[in-house]
Amino acid sequence: MYSSILESGEQNPRWVNSTSLKPLFIITPKFAWEIQATVTCSKEHGLRVRVRSGGHDYEGLSYRCDVDFVVIDLINFRSINVDMEKETAWIESGATLGEMYYNIAKESRVHGYPAGLCQSVGVGGDFSGGGIGTMMRKYGLAADNIIDAELVDVNGRILDREEMGEDLFWAIRGGGASSFGVITAWKVKLVQVPPRVTAFTIHKKMDQEGKELVFRWQSIADRFPQELFLRVIVQNVVAHGYSVEAGPVEALFNSLFLGPKEELLAVMKESFPELGLQEQDCEEMSWIESVLYFYGGYKRGESLDVLLNRTDPFKGYFKAKSDFVQKPIPITALEGMTQRLSKKALVYVNIDPLGGRLDEIPETELPFPHRKGNLFNIQYFVKWKENSDMEANDRIDWMKELYDFMEPYVCQSPRSAYLNYRDLDIGNNLPGKSSYLQAKIWGEKYFKGNFERLATIKSRVDAENFFQNVQSIPPIS
Ligand SMILES: Cc1cc2nc3c(=O)[nH]c(=O)nc-3n(C[C@H](O)[C@H](O)[C@H](O)COP(=O)(O)OP(=O)(O)OC[C@H]3O[C@@H](n4cnc5c(N)ncnc54)[C@H](O)[C@@H]3O)c2cc1C
Repeated sequence: MYSSILESGEQNPRWVNSTSLKPLFIITPKFAWEIQATVTCSKEHGLRVRVRSGGHDYEGLSYRCDVDFVVIDLINFRSINVDMEKETAWIESGATLGEMYYNIAKESRVHGYPAGLCQSVGVGGDFSGGGIGTMMRKYGLAADNIIDAELVDVNGRILDREEMGEDLFWAIRGGGASSFGVITAWKVKLVQVPPRVTAFTIHKKMDQEGKELVFRWQSIADRFPQELFLRVIVQNVVAHGYSVEAGPVEALFNSLFLGPKEELLAVMKESFPELGLQEQDCEEMSWIESVLYFYGGYKRGESLDVLLNRTDPFKGYFKAKSDFVQKPIPITALEGMTQRLSKKALVYVNIDPLGGRLDEIPETELPFPHRKGNLFNIQYFVKWKENSDMEANDRIDWMKELYDFMEPYVCQSPRSAYLNYRDLDIGNNLPGKSSYLQAKIWGEKYFKGNFERLATIKSRVDAENFFQNVQSIPPIS
Protein backbone atom coordinates (compact mmCIF):
# COMPACT_ATOMS: atom_id res chain seq x y z
CA MET A 1 0.00 0.00 0.00
CA TYR A 2 2.76 2.41 1.10
CA SER A 3 4.88 1.73 -2.01
CA SER A 4 1.98 1.80 -4.44
CA ILE A 5 0.79 5.19 -3.13
CA LEU A 6 4.32 6.58 -3.11
CA GLU A 7 5.19 5.41 -6.62
CA SER A 8 1.86 6.06 -8.31
CA GLY A 9 2.27 9.75 -7.51
CA GLU A 10 5.86 9.99 -8.77
CA GLN A 11 5.22 11.33 -12.25
CA ASN A 12 8.90 11.53 -13.16
CA PRO A 13 10.02 7.90 -12.66
CA ARG A 14 13.60 9.19 -12.55
CA TRP A 15 13.08 9.54 -8.79
CA VAL A 16 11.52 6.11 -8.17
CA ASN A 17 14.08 4.04 -6.25
CA SER A 18 16.43 7.03 -6.16
CA THR A 19 18.83 7.11 -3.24
CA SER A 20 16.72 9.79 -1.47
CA LEU A 21 15.13 8.90 1.86
CA LYS A 22 11.61 7.52 1.79
CA PRO A 23 8.92 9.30 3.80
CA LEU A 24 8.35 7.99 7.33
CA PHE A 25 4.61 8.38 6.76
CA ILE A 26 2.32 9.09 3.85
CA ILE A 27 -0.85 10.83 4.97
CA THR A 28 -3.82 10.77 2.58
CA PRO A 29 -6.22 13.13 4.37
CA LYS A 30 -9.95 13.22 3.71
CA PHE A 31 -10.59 16.16 6.05
CA ALA A 32 -8.79 19.45 6.62
CA TRP A 33 -8.31 18.66 10.34
CA GLU A 34 -6.05 15.74 9.33
CA ILE A 35 -3.80 18.19 7.48
CA GLN A 36 -3.83 20.55 10.46
CA ALA A 37 -2.88 17.65 12.74
CA THR A 38 -0.09 16.50 10.39
CA VAL A 39 1.46 19.97 10.28
CA THR A 40 1.27 20.37 14.07
CA CYS A 41 2.63 16.88 14.85
CA SER A 42 5.42 17.12 12.27
CA LYS A 43 6.54 20.41 13.75
CA GLU A 44 6.49 18.98 17.24
CA HIS A 45 8.56 15.95 16.19
CA GLY A 46 11.05 17.82 14.01
CA LEU A 47 9.89 16.23 10.75
CA ARG A 48 9.71 17.99 7.40
CA VAL A 49 6.50 17.98 5.39
CA ARG A 50 6.16 17.45 1.65
CA VAL A 51 2.84 18.25 -0.01
CA ARG A 52 1.84 16.38 -3.15
CA SER A 53 -1.13 17.15 -5.39
CA GLY A 54 -0.47 15.69 -8.86
CA GLY A 55 3.18 14.65 -8.28
CA HIS A 56 4.55 16.27 -11.47
CA ASP A 57 7.28 18.35 -9.82
CA TYR A 58 10.18 17.96 -12.29
CA GLU A 59 12.71 17.46 -9.50
CA GLY A 60 10.42 15.34 -7.31
CA LEU A 61 10.25 17.95 -4.54
CA SER A 62 6.74 16.89 -3.50
CA TYR A 63 8.01 13.47 -2.37
CA ARG A 64 11.81 13.73 -1.92
CA CYS A 65 13.70 15.04 1.08
CA ASP A 66 17.11 14.43 2.64
CA VAL A 67 15.96 14.43 6.29
CA ASP A 68 13.10 12.54 8.01
CA PHE A 69 9.83 13.63 6.52
CA VAL A 70 6.11 13.05 5.99
CA VAL A 71 4.25 13.26 2.68
CA ILE A 72 0.77 14.78 2.68
CA ASP A 73 -0.70 13.27 -0.50
CA LEU A 74 -3.89 15.06 -1.51
CA ILE A 75 -5.24 12.18 -3.62
CA ASN A 76 -8.46 12.22 -1.56
CA PHE A 77 -8.76 15.98 -1.58
CA ARG A 78 -10.16 16.62 -5.01
CA SER A 79 -13.79 17.71 -4.92
CA ILE A 80 -14.83 20.35 -7.46
CA ASN A 81 -17.89 22.54 -6.88
CA VAL A 82 -18.94 24.67 -9.82
CA ASP A 83 -21.34 27.58 -9.23
CA MET A 84 -22.66 28.39 -12.70
CA GLU A 85 -24.73 31.33 -11.49
CA LYS A 86 -21.65 33.14 -10.21
CA GLU A 87 -19.32 31.56 -12.82
CA THR A 88 -16.94 30.43 -10.09
CA ALA A 89 -15.68 27.10 -8.74
CA TRP A 90 -14.04 25.81 -5.55
CA ILE A 91 -11.46 23.21 -6.52
CA GLU A 92 -9.55 21.11 -4.03
CA SER A 93 -5.80 21.02 -4.64
CA GLY A 94 -5.52 17.26 -5.21
CA ALA A 95 -7.77 17.43 -8.29
CA THR A 96 -5.98 17.18 -11.61
CA LEU A 97 -6.40 19.73 -14.39
CA GLY A 98 -8.27 17.01 -16.35
CA GLU A 99 -10.74 16.48 -13.50
CA MET A 100 -11.22 20.24 -13.25
CA TYR A 101 -11.82 20.72 -17.01
CA TYR A 102 -14.14 17.68 -17.10
CA ASN A 103 -16.28 18.92 -14.20
CA ILE A 104 -16.55 22.45 -15.58
CA ALA A 105 -17.58 21.04 -18.99
CA LYS A 106 -20.22 18.86 -17.30
CA GLU A 107 -21.92 22.07 -16.13
CA SER A 108 -21.33 24.20 -19.21
CA ARG A 109 -19.75 23.74 -22.65
CA VAL A 110 -19.16 27.48 -22.92
CA HIS A 111 -17.03 27.83 -19.82
CA GLY A 112 -13.47 26.73 -19.14
CA TYR A 113 -10.38 27.68 -17.18
CA PRO A 114 -6.98 28.89 -18.42
CA ALA A 115 -4.53 26.41 -16.86
CA GLY A 116 -1.95 23.87 -18.10
CA LEU A 117 -2.17 21.45 -21.02
CA CYS A 118 -1.45 18.08 -19.42
CA GLN A 119 -4.55 16.59 -17.84
CA SER A 120 -2.73 14.64 -15.11
CA VAL A 121 -0.97 17.73 -13.65
CA GLY A 122 -2.26 18.63 -10.16
CA VAL A 123 -4.15 21.83 -9.51
CA GLY A 124 -2.06 22.33 -6.33
CA GLY A 125 1.28 22.65 -8.08
CA ASP A 126 0.06 24.16 -11.36
CA PHE A 127 -1.90 27.06 -9.78
CA SER A 128 0.69 27.82 -7.13
CA GLY A 129 3.49 28.05 -9.74
CA GLY A 130 1.54 30.15 -12.29
CA GLY A 131 -0.11 27.81 -14.82
CA ILE A 132 0.50 28.57 -18.49
CA GLY A 133 -1.72 27.12 -21.19
CA THR A 134 -3.61 27.53 -24.44
CA MET A 135 -5.87 30.35 -23.18
CA MET A 136 -3.20 32.46 -21.46
CA ARG A 137 -3.05 35.04 -24.27
CA LYS A 138 -6.77 35.66 -23.79
CA TYR A 139 -7.19 35.25 -20.03
CA GLY A 140 -3.72 35.14 -18.43
CA LEU A 141 -2.36 32.40 -16.19
CA ALA A 142 -4.28 30.04 -13.94
CA ALA A 143 -2.95 32.10 -11.02
CA ASP A 144 -4.35 35.33 -12.55
CA ASN A 145 -7.92 34.01 -12.21
CA ILE A 146 -7.86 32.78 -8.60
CA ILE A 147 -10.13 34.75 -6.30
CA ASP A 148 -9.82 32.93 -2.97
CA ALA A 149 -7.97 30.01 -1.37
CA GLU A 150 -7.82 28.00 1.83
CA LEU A 151 -4.44 27.34 3.39
CA VAL A 152 -3.26 25.43 6.45
CA ASP A 153 -0.48 27.57 7.90
CA VAL A 154 2.56 26.72 9.99
CA ASN A 155 0.48 26.97 13.18
CA GLY A 156 -2.09 24.52 11.85
CA ARG A 157 -4.74 27.20 11.30
CA ILE A 158 -7.04 27.16 8.26
CA LEU A 159 -7.02 30.59 6.63
CA ASP A 160 -9.04 31.92 3.72
CA ARG A 161 -8.09 34.99 1.68
CA GLU A 162 -9.44 37.46 4.21
CA GLU A 163 -7.78 35.70 7.12
CA MET A 164 -4.40 35.18 5.45
CA GLY A 165 -4.23 38.76 4.15
CA GLU A 166 -3.44 40.06 0.66
CA ASP A 167 0.34 39.59 0.96
CA LEU A 168 0.19 35.84 1.58
CA PHE A 169 -2.64 35.48 -0.93
CA TRP A 170 -0.34 37.19 -3.47
CA ALA A 171 2.58 34.87 -2.64
CA ILE A 172 0.75 31.57 -3.11
CA ARG A 173 -0.48 32.54 -6.59
CA GLY A 174 2.75 31.90 -8.49
CA GLY A 175 5.39 31.97 -5.75
CA GLY A 176 5.15 28.22 -5.06
CA ALA A 177 2.77 27.41 -2.20
CA SER A 178 5.07 24.77 -0.68
CA SER A 179 7.09 27.59 0.94
CA PHE A 180 4.05 28.96 2.74
CA GLY A 181 1.69 26.17 3.83
CA VAL A 182 -0.69 23.55 2.50
CA ILE A 183 -3.37 24.84 0.16
CA THR A 184 -6.48 22.71 0.56
CA ALA A 185 -8.62 24.46 -2.09
CA TRP A 186 -8.77 27.34 -4.55
CA LYS A 187 -11.71 29.47 -5.65
CA VAL A 188 -11.49 30.52 -9.30
CA LYS A 189 -13.36 32.75 -11.70
CA LEU A 190 -14.36 30.66 -14.71
CA VAL A 191 -13.87 32.10 -18.17
CA GLN A 192 -16.17 32.01 -21.17
CA VAL A 193 -15.25 29.98 -24.23
CA PRO A 194 -17.09 29.94 -27.58
CA PRO A 195 -19.21 26.88 -28.47
CA ARG A 196 -16.81 26.13 -31.36
CA VAL A 197 -13.04 26.47 -31.27
CA THR A 198 -10.54 25.49 -33.97
CA ALA A 199 -7.30 23.57 -33.66
CA PHE A 200 -4.60 22.69 -36.14
CA THR A 201 -1.12 21.15 -36.25
CA ILE A 202 1.16 21.65 -39.23
CA HIS A 203 4.40 19.67 -39.45
CA LYS A 204 7.39 21.28 -41.21
CA LYS A 205 10.86 19.81 -41.60
CA MET A 206 13.52 21.96 -39.93
CA ASP A 207 15.12 22.64 -43.31
CA GLN A 208 15.73 26.17 -44.59
CA GLU A 209 12.00 26.79 -45.12
CA GLY A 210 11.15 25.43 -41.64
CA LYS A 211 13.75 27.60 -39.95
CA GLU A 212 12.56 30.68 -41.82
CA LEU A 213 8.98 29.99 -40.70
CA VAL A 214 10.06 29.62 -37.07
CA PHE A 215 12.09 32.82 -37.39
CA ARG A 216 9.10 34.71 -38.80
CA TRP A 217 6.75 33.23 -36.16
CA GLN A 218 8.93 34.67 -33.39
CA SER A 219 8.24 38.27 -34.32
CA ILE A 220 4.47 37.93 -34.74
CA ALA A 221 3.11 35.26 -32.37
CA ASP A 222 2.92 37.53 -29.31
CA ARG A 223 0.93 40.11 -31.31
CA PHE A 224 -1.72 37.85 -32.84
CA PRO A 225 -5.30 38.48 -31.64
CA GLN A 226 -5.68 37.24 -28.04
CA GLU A 227 -7.95 34.43 -29.22
CA LEU A 228 -5.09 32.84 -31.14
CA PHE A 229 -2.51 30.66 -29.40
CA LEU A 230 -0.01 29.33 -31.94
CA ARG A 231 2.97 27.55 -30.44
CA VAL A 232 5.95 25.85 -32.02
CA ILE A 233 7.38 22.53 -30.92
CA VAL A 234 10.74 21.66 -32.41
CA GLN A 235 11.20 17.95 -31.82
CA ASN A 236 12.70 14.75 -33.12
CA VAL A 237 9.91 12.53 -31.87
CA VAL A 238 7.29 10.54 -33.74
CA ALA A 239 4.26 9.56 -31.65
CA HIS A 240 2.23 6.39 -32.20
CA GLY A 241 -0.67 6.82 -29.81
CA TYR A 242 0.99 7.14 -26.43
CA SER A 243 4.32 5.61 -27.41
CA VAL A 244 7.07 7.71 -28.96
CA GLU A 245 10.19 6.96 -30.95
CA ALA A 246 13.00 9.00 -32.48
CA GLY A 247 12.44 10.69 -35.82
CA PRO A 248 13.79 13.56 -37.94
CA VAL A 249 13.88 17.08 -36.48
CA GLU A 250 10.71 18.96 -37.37
CA ALA A 251 8.74 22.01 -36.25
CA LEU A 252 5.10 21.55 -35.29
CA PHE A 253 2.93 24.64 -35.56
CA ASN A 254 0.27 23.70 -33.04
CA SER A 255 -2.65 26.04 -32.47
CA LEU A 256 -5.89 26.74 -30.62
CA PHE A 257 -8.15 29.51 -31.88
CA LEU A 258 -11.11 30.56 -29.73
CA GLY A 259 -13.56 30.82 -32.61
CA PRO A 260 -14.71 29.13 -35.84
CA LYS A 261 -12.36 28.16 -38.65
CA GLU A 262 -13.48 30.88 -41.10
CA GLU A 263 -12.28 33.52 -38.63
CA LEU A 264 -9.03 31.67 -38.01
CA LEU A 265 -8.33 31.36 -41.74
CA ALA A 266 -8.88 35.10 -42.17
CA VAL A 267 -6.51 35.93 -39.29
CA MET A 268 -3.82 33.59 -40.61
CA LYS A 269 -4.12 34.88 -44.15
CA GLU A 270 -3.62 38.39 -42.87
CA SER A 271 -0.90 37.76 -40.25
CA PHE A 272 1.01 34.62 -41.20
CA PRO A 273 0.27 33.68 -44.84
CA GLU A 274 3.73 32.05 -45.13
CA LEU A 275 2.50 29.06 -43.09
CA GLY A 276 -0.02 28.31 -45.84
CA LEU A 277 -2.85 27.21 -43.53
CA GLN A 278 -5.67 25.54 -45.50
CA GLU A 279 -9.26 24.84 -44.50
CA GLN A 280 -8.57 21.10 -44.46
CA ASP A 281 -5.85 21.60 -41.81
CA CYS A 282 -8.40 22.99 -39.35
CA GLU A 283 -10.53 20.94 -36.97
CA GLU A 284 -13.51 22.51 -35.23
CA MET A 285 -14.50 21.13 -31.85
CA SER A 286 -15.81 22.13 -28.44
CA TRP A 287 -13.32 23.68 -26.04
CA ILE A 288 -13.29 20.57 -23.85
CA GLU A 289 -12.42 18.42 -26.88
CA SER A 290 -9.53 20.77 -27.57
CA VAL A 291 -8.13 19.81 -24.15
CA LEU A 292 -7.85 16.23 -25.45
CA TYR A 293 -6.46 17.44 -28.78
CA PHE A 294 -3.67 19.38 -27.09
CA TYR A 295 -2.35 16.63 -24.98
CA GLY A 296 -1.79 14.39 -28.03
CA GLY A 297 -2.28 10.65 -28.18
CA TYR A 298 -6.07 10.80 -28.05
CA LYS A 299 -8.26 10.02 -31.00
CA ARG A 300 -11.07 12.30 -32.09
CA GLY A 301 -14.40 11.19 -30.63
CA GLU A 302 -12.76 9.40 -27.69
CA SER A 303 -14.71 9.61 -24.42
CA LEU A 304 -13.98 12.63 -22.26
CA ASP A 305 -13.52 10.17 -19.39
CA VAL A 306 -9.83 9.87 -20.32
CA LEU A 307 -9.46 13.31 -18.73
CA LEU A 308 -9.96 11.58 -15.38
CA ASN A 309 -6.79 9.49 -15.75
CA ARG A 310 -4.37 10.71 -13.05
CA THR A 311 -1.24 9.35 -14.69
CA ASP A 312 0.56 11.12 -17.51
CA PRO A 313 -0.05 8.84 -20.53
CA PHE A 314 3.42 9.80 -21.83
CA LYS A 315 5.10 9.14 -18.46
CA GLY A 316 8.86 8.60 -18.84
CA TYR A 317 12.23 9.63 -17.35
CA PHE A 318 12.95 13.28 -18.12
CA LYS A 319 14.88 16.46 -17.41
CA ALA A 320 13.78 19.96 -18.42
CA LYS A 321 15.02 23.53 -18.36
CA SER A 322 13.40 26.81 -19.41
CA ASP A 323 14.05 30.29 -20.76
CA PHE A 324 12.13 33.44 -21.64
CA VAL A 325 12.99 35.28 -24.83
CA GLN A 326 12.68 38.99 -25.64
CA LYS A 327 14.24 39.17 -29.13
CA PRO A 328 13.80 36.76 -32.05
CA ILE A 329 16.47 34.06 -32.11
CA PRO A 330 18.53 34.41 -35.33
CA ILE A 331 18.32 31.72 -38.00
CA THR A 332 21.95 30.71 -37.38
CA ALA A 333 21.07 29.89 -33.76
CA LEU A 334 17.96 27.95 -34.89
CA GLU A 335 20.32 26.01 -37.13
CA GLY A 336 22.64 25.29 -34.16
CA MET A 337 19.66 24.13 -32.11
CA THR A 338 18.45 21.86 -34.92
CA GLN A 339 21.88 20.29 -35.30
CA ARG A 340 21.98 19.53 -31.59
CA LEU A 341 18.48 18.02 -31.66
CA SER A 342 19.46 15.77 -34.54
CA LYS A 343 22.16 14.21 -32.35
CA LYS A 344 19.96 13.09 -29.46
CA ALA A 345 16.76 11.05 -29.46
CA LEU A 346 13.46 12.09 -27.81
CA VAL A 347 13.92 15.81 -27.41
CA TYR A 348 11.30 18.53 -27.44
CA VAL A 349 11.79 22.29 -27.49
CA ASN A 350 8.36 23.74 -26.69
CA ILE A 351 8.04 27.40 -27.58
CA ASP A 352 4.89 29.03 -26.16
CA PRO A 353 3.87 32.52 -27.30
CA LEU A 354 3.19 35.16 -24.65
CA GLY A 355 1.68 38.62 -25.18
CA GLY A 356 -2.04 39.42 -25.20
CA ARG A 357 -3.60 39.48 -21.71
CA LEU A 358 -0.21 38.66 -20.13
CA ASP A 359 1.14 42.01 -21.36
CA GLU A 360 -1.71 43.88 -19.69
CA ILE A 361 -0.90 42.61 -16.19
CA PRO A 362 1.95 44.41 -14.38
CA GLU A 363 4.92 42.18 -13.48
CA THR A 364 4.46 42.87 -9.75
CA GLU A 365 0.77 41.90 -9.77
CA LEU A 366 1.68 38.30 -8.90
CA PRO A 367 5.05 36.56 -8.26
CA PHE A 368 5.21 35.38 -11.94
CA PRO A 369 7.00 38.37 -13.54
CA HIS A 370 7.56 37.23 -17.15
CA ARG A 371 5.05 39.48 -18.83
CA LYS A 372 5.34 42.55 -21.09
CA GLY A 373 8.55 42.55 -23.11
CA ASN A 374 8.76 38.75 -23.32
CA LEU A 375 7.91 37.24 -26.70
CA PHE A 376 7.81 33.60 -25.69
CA ASN A 377 8.81 30.92 -23.23
CA ILE A 378 11.02 27.97 -24.14
CA GLN A 379 10.97 24.61 -22.43
CA TYR A 380 13.81 22.21 -23.31
CA PHE A 381 12.65 18.69 -22.49
CA VAL A 382 14.66 15.48 -22.91
CA LYS A 383 13.31 11.98 -22.26
CA TRP A 384 14.87 8.58 -21.98
CA LYS A 385 13.52 5.06 -21.74
CA GLU A 386 15.80 3.14 -19.38
CA ASN A 387 16.36 3.75 -15.71
CA SER A 388 20.15 3.94 -15.86
CA ASP A 389 22.55 6.57 -14.52
CA MET A 390 24.53 6.37 -17.73
CA GLU A 391 21.52 7.19 -19.84
CA ALA A 392 20.39 9.96 -17.47
CA ASN A 393 23.82 11.59 -17.35
CA ASP A 394 24.20 11.41 -21.10
CA ARG A 395 20.84 13.21 -21.62
CA ILE A 396 21.48 15.76 -18.88
CA ASP A 397 24.95 16.62 -20.24
CA TRP A 398 23.43 17.03 -23.67
CA MET A 399 20.77 19.36 -22.30
CA LYS A 400 23.34 21.48 -20.43
CA GLU A 401 25.29 21.93 -23.65
CA LEU A 402 22.15 23.05 -25.50
CA TYR A 403 21.27 25.39 -22.61
CA ASP A 404 24.75 26.95 -22.72
CA PHE A 405 24.53 27.31 -26.47
CA MET A 406 21.20 29.20 -26.16
CA GLU A 407 22.45 31.68 -23.56
CA PRO A 408 23.27 34.61 -25.90
CA TYR A 409 19.79 34.48 -27.45
CA VAL A 410 17.55 34.45 -24.37
CA CYS A 411 16.55 36.80 -21.58
CA GLN A 412 19.63 37.94 -19.62
CA SER A 413 20.38 39.55 -16.25
CA PRO A 414 19.00 37.43 -14.88
CA ARG A 415 18.57 34.52 -17.26
CA SER A 416 14.92 33.76 -16.42
CA ALA A 417 13.16 30.48 -15.74
CA TYR A 418 9.59 29.32 -15.07
CA LEU A 419 8.97 27.94 -11.58
CA ASN A 420 6.63 25.19 -12.79
CA TYR A 421 9.47 23.85 -14.96
CA ARG A 422 11.50 23.40 -11.79
CA ASP A 423 15.25 23.16 -12.33
CA LEU A 424 17.60 22.57 -9.42
CA ASP A 425 20.68 23.44 -11.51
CA ILE A 426 19.99 27.17 -11.65
CA GLY A 427 21.93 28.47 -8.68
CA ASN A 428 21.70 25.93 -5.88
CA ASN A 429 24.85 24.80 -4.10
CA LEU A 430 27.08 27.79 -4.78
CA PRO A 431 29.92 27.42 -2.26
CA GLY A 432 30.63 30.29 0.12
CA LYS A 433 27.23 31.99 -0.13
CA SER A 434 24.63 32.15 2.66
CA SER A 435 21.44 30.19 2.02
CA TYR A 436 19.56 33.46 1.46
CA LEU A 437 22.06 34.69 -1.14
CA GLN A 438 22.04 31.30 -2.84
CA ALA A 439 18.26 31.40 -2.96
CA LYS A 440 18.36 34.92 -4.39
CA ILE A 441 20.22 33.53 -7.43
CA TRP A 442 17.54 31.05 -8.49
CA GLY A 443 14.81 33.21 -6.90
CA GLU A 444 15.47 36.16 -9.18
CA LYS A 445 15.47 33.86 -12.22
CA TYR A 446 11.99 32.65 -11.34
CA PHE A 447 10.58 35.86 -9.82
CA LYS A 448 12.88 38.79 -10.74
CA GLY A 449 12.19 41.71 -8.31
CA ASN A 450 9.29 39.82 -6.71
CA PHE A 451 11.73 37.46 -4.95
CA GLU A 452 12.42 39.94 -2.17
CA ARG A 453 8.71 40.47 -1.48
CA LEU A 454 8.26 36.68 -1.32
CA ALA A 455 11.13 36.43 1.20
CA THR A 456 9.66 39.27 3.28
CA ILE A 457 6.28 37.51 3.38
CA LYS A 458 8.01 34.25 4.28
CA SER A 459 9.79 35.98 7.19
CA ARG A 460 6.43 37.14 8.52
CA VAL A 461 4.38 33.94 8.11
CA ASP A 462 7.02 31.21 8.66
CA ALA A 463 10.06 32.82 10.28
CA GLU A 464 11.37 29.44 11.52
CA ASN A 465 11.31 28.11 7.94
CA PHE A 466 9.22 25.03 8.72
CA PHE A 467 7.90 24.73 5.15
CA GLN A 468 11.20 24.29 3.37
CA ASN A 469 12.80 22.28 0.59
CA VAL A 470 15.99 22.71 -1.44
CA GLN A 471 14.33 25.37 -3.54
CA SER A 472 11.84 27.08 -1.23
CA ILE A 473 11.67 30.78 -0.41
CA PRO A 474 13.83 31.42 2.69
CA PRO A 475 13.05 34.02 5.34
CA ILE A 476 15.29 37.10 5.00
CA SER A 477 18.30 36.41 7.19
C1 LIG B 1 3.82 16.22 -18.57
C2 LIG B 1 3.79 17.58 -17.97
C3 LIG B 1 3.07 18.60 -18.61
C4 LIG B 1 3.03 19.88 -18.05
N1 LIG B 1 2.33 20.88 -18.67
C5 LIG B 1 2.28 22.12 -18.11
C6 LIG B 1 1.56 23.18 -18.72
O1 LIG B 1 0.94 23.03 -19.76
N2 LIG B 1 1.56 24.40 -18.11
C7 LIG B 1 2.22 24.62 -16.93
O2 LIG B 1 2.18 25.74 -16.41
N3 LIG B 1 2.91 23.63 -16.33
C8 LIG B 1 2.96 22.40 -16.90
N4 LIG B 1 3.68 21.41 -16.29
C9 LIG B 1 4.41 21.72 -15.06
C10 LIG B 1 3.48 21.60 -13.85
O3 LIG B 1 2.59 22.70 -13.81
C11 LIG B 1 4.33 21.61 -12.57
O4 LIG B 1 5.20 20.52 -12.57
C12 LIG B 1 3.44 21.60 -11.33
O5 LIG B 1 4.19 22.03 -10.22
C13 LIG B 1 2.90 20.22 -11.07
O6 LIG B 1 1.92 20.27 -10.09
P1 LIG B 1 1.51 18.91 -9.36
O7 LIG B 1 0.51 19.25 -8.33
O8 LIG B 1 1.18 17.89 -10.38
O9 LIG B 1 2.90 18.47 -8.75
P2 LIG B 1 3.40 18.17 -7.27
O10 LIG B 1 4.67 17.44 -7.50
O11 LIG B 1 2.35 17.52 -6.47
O12 LIG B 1 3.66 19.61 -6.71
C14 LIG B 1 4.56 20.52 -7.30
C15 LIG B 1 5.07 21.50 -6.24
O13 LIG B 1 3.96 22.20 -5.66
C16 LIG B 1 3.85 21.90 -4.27
N5 LIG B 1 2.45 21.69 -3.96
C17 LIG B 1 1.59 20.87 -4.62
N6 LIG B 1 0.38 20.94 -4.08
C18 LIG B 1 0.46 21.80 -3.04
C19 LIG B 1 -0.48 22.27 -2.10
N7 LIG B 1 -1.74 21.84 -2.12
N8 LIG B 1 -0.08 23.14 -1.15
C20 LIG B 1 1.22 23.56 -1.12
N9 LIG B 1 2.15 23.16 -2.00
C21 LIG B 1 1.78 22.28 -2.96
C22 LIG B 1 4.66 20.63 -4.07
O14 LIG B 1 5.09 20.48 -2.73
C23 LIG B 1 5.77 20.81 -5.08
O15 LIG B 1 6.75 21.67 -4.55
C24 LIG B 1 3.71 20.13 -16.84
C25 LIG B 1 4.40 19.10 -16.19
C26 LIG B 1 4.46 17.84 -16.77
C27 LIG B 1 5.22 16.76 -16.06
